[in-house]
Order: sequence, then C-alpha cells, then structure tokens
Amino acid sequence: MEMIDIGANLAHDSFDADRDAVLQRAAAAGVAQIVVTGSSEESTRRAIELASVHAGVLFATAGIHPHHAADLTVDALPALQALAADSRVVAVGECGLDYFRDFSPRDLQRRAFAWQLELAARTGKPVFLHQRDAHEDFIAMLREHRVTRGVAHCFTAGERERDEYLALGLHIGITGWINDERRGLHLREVVKGIPANRLLIETDAPYLLPRDIAPKPKTRRNEPAYLPYVVRAIAHERGESAESVAGASTAAARQLFGLPAP
Ligand SMILES: [Zn+2]
Repeated sequence: MEMIDIGANLAHDSFDADRDAVLQRAAAAGVAQIVVTGSSEESTRRAIELASVHAGVLFATAGIHPHHAADLTVDALPALQALAADSRVVAVGECGLDYFRDFSPRDLQRRAFAWQLELAARTGKPVFLHQRDAHEDFIAMLREHRVTRGVAHCFTAGERERDEYLALGLHIGITGWINDERRGLHLREVVKGIPANRLLIETDAPYLLPRDIAPKPKTRRNEPAYLPYVVRAIAHERGESAESVAGASTAAARQLFGLPAP
C-alpha cells in the first residue's frame, strides 16, 4: 500500500528531536511522499528546507494560516511571493478563514486569504485551504477568485459544503477526525459521497492523532506513520479496500500537486 500524506506539519518543533526517525517510520508504513505544511513565513522556510534535504519525498506548501493572518502585511507579501515561487513548493497555503478561533481579526483574515488566492493564480499552483465556521465568506471568496484547483484540507463539514467544494473542482482532504467516534460520525456519511479521484488523505501531524490506534501511543503527537489508520477508516465507510483508497488518493495527490512518482 503506497500513500501520500498531503498535510503534515513536519516543520513543527515537536519533531525537532527525532524528525529522521519519524520519516523512517512513515516510509516503513507505506507513506511514500509527504506534503509539509507551511502556515507562517517561518514554517514555510523550514518546510522548503526539509523538502530540499529530502528531495522527491518531501514537498512544501507556502502560506499564512488564518490564525497568523495579521502577520501578512503589505511589507511581508514579497517574501511570501518569493517562497511560493520556489520549485519545491507545490501549493499556496495553508490559507483560508477561521472564525471559530478568530486568532486574527476577520477583515485581516479575508485580506490575507485574498492575497494568497491571487498568488496561487499567479504561480499556477493549487491552494491548500483551511476553513472553520466561515463557510459562507470562504465559498464566496473562492468563487470570486475563480478557484478551481486545490484541497479543502482537514474537511470536517457537511454534505452541502462538500458538494459546493466539489462543484468548484476542489479536492477534499480527510484526516483522523474520521477515526473519532465522538465527533467524526457525520464525516463517515460525508466521505461516501467524495469521488475517489478527489479524495485526499492526511494526518495533519502533530495534531489529530487517530483515536483508534492500538496499542495507544505513549504521546498525543500524531505522525505520518499513522496514515494507514485514516485510510482504513475511510475504506470501511466506503465499502472499499484500503488498497483501493490508498491507490486512488495517491494518484489524485500526484496529479493535483504535480508530484513525481518516486
Ligand atoms: Zn488547518
């Protein structure tokens, strides 16, 4: 079974002590390639550095998460533009709107999001999207900017949101949220209606540790080696084999992000 983790925050400092071991465990588990999420200027730089050290295996996104939207000032924009143009960067983001936490003022979130949608259009790269409790503004901006290529990462919403993203041409990223029997139940229904060639898989490590890992890991830190748990949960709901979910999502990820087969 060959898989691509399309969203792992491997630049996160929780991986500083043992990042190479994490990558080895991922490879041993069948995770052939990983898209390392950039969510600030600093983490984007680190993601690109990792992608250059592990060329062909790790790839980067370049973006400013809505939590950090206030950091993306007019003065900070040229640096992000330069990072987004890097050949190891396969998507612009993580960008979007988060009205659940509201860590940045909403008007600044919308400004940062709009700039990044423009940047994606200019670079020709797909967008790596984050949305929480902001669907109406979010979909309106995607439509206004005529976004057709990207992934709604860590999708946790319902059928209406799913169908609106699919209608734009977007892919849907499913995380270990689906393994959570307390809050992932509706997602188990929603995942049945995603076409196989639009379904991507991700750990969002170090977050969202799948709850059904056995034996339970010693820490709460998630890592790409646990991606098979997400695949099996998806496969179970869709009545498919894990191999078919893995195979289709790998092909879809390679196509969307333009990844070479290793
Ligand atoms: Zn996110």
